[in-house]
Amino acid sequence: MRLDYLTIFPDYLAPLTLSLPGKAVSGGLIEVHVHDLRRWTHDRHRTVDDTPYGGGAGMVMKPEPFGEAFDELAIDGATIVVPTPSGRPLTQALARELATRERLVFCCGRYEGIDQRVLDHAAERGELIEVSLGDYVLNGGEVAALAVTEAVVRLLPGFMGNAESLTEESHEAGLLEYPSYTKPAVWRDREVPPVLLSGDHGAIARWRRQQSLDRTAARRPDLLHGAQAAGEWVIASAV
Ligand code: SAM
Repeated sequence: MRLDYLTIFPDYLAPLTLSLPGKAVSGGLIEVHVHDLRRWTHDRHRTVDDTPYGGGAGMVMKPEPFGEAFDELAIDGATIVVPTPSGRPLTQALARELATRERLVFCCGRYEGIDQRVLDHAAERGELIEVSLGDYVLNGGEVAALAVTEAVVRLLPGFMGNAESLTEESHEAGLLEYPSYTKPAVWRDREVPPVLLSGDHGAIARWRRQQSLDRTAARRPDLLHGAQAAGEWVIASAV
């Protein structure tokens, strides 16, 4: 998968070279290209923003640098990901969808956002997906681009050493994950639940499922609504 990032703060994306995404780069699983959007400006101040038409507070990112970047990077046919609080919420399902694409081009907004025509133009040249990290406002799209990248790249075949760790995770089965424990068996007088030490794999699987259901019902009941798990939780909890 090829990943391009258009940003006025390329240093913000340095974490892409760390940890697992870094390993995916060196292993050739992903190709990462971070571009300074100011490269496609032509004035002395390397201006990327201007005042909004119609008035109002703040500045808007100008269309020309994005347009020139799109041309030079030949984004045609790519999936253009634009972080914005008005976008589709980032979910595991969306991450799975993006993980099937060959090329993602992230356009990181700043100020009051990007001139709408950039998005309209991008939608004609490729697939445009506007993504929101949640119902709050960040200063820029870089953190969101990193979050999307991490959620997507770890789903690529060959990325995780143990593919099973993916299927067991929160949101993969529509539920939150059960609590995890490791050694020692007793820590500061707190014991690991005895069933996990029993060696009875059936009992462990049932305990974990119940924990997932209880935790989801307590913390994120919205995930249970309409899910098959809702019925399962009601039945299991009544027993
Ligand atoms: N005026 C914009 C609005 O009300 O929708 C917010 C602009 S915000 C200060 C600047 C940039 O941060 C946005 O263009 C977007 O790239 C990014 N951003 C802010 N909040 C975000 C969120 N919840 N999800 C994804 N990106 C976000």
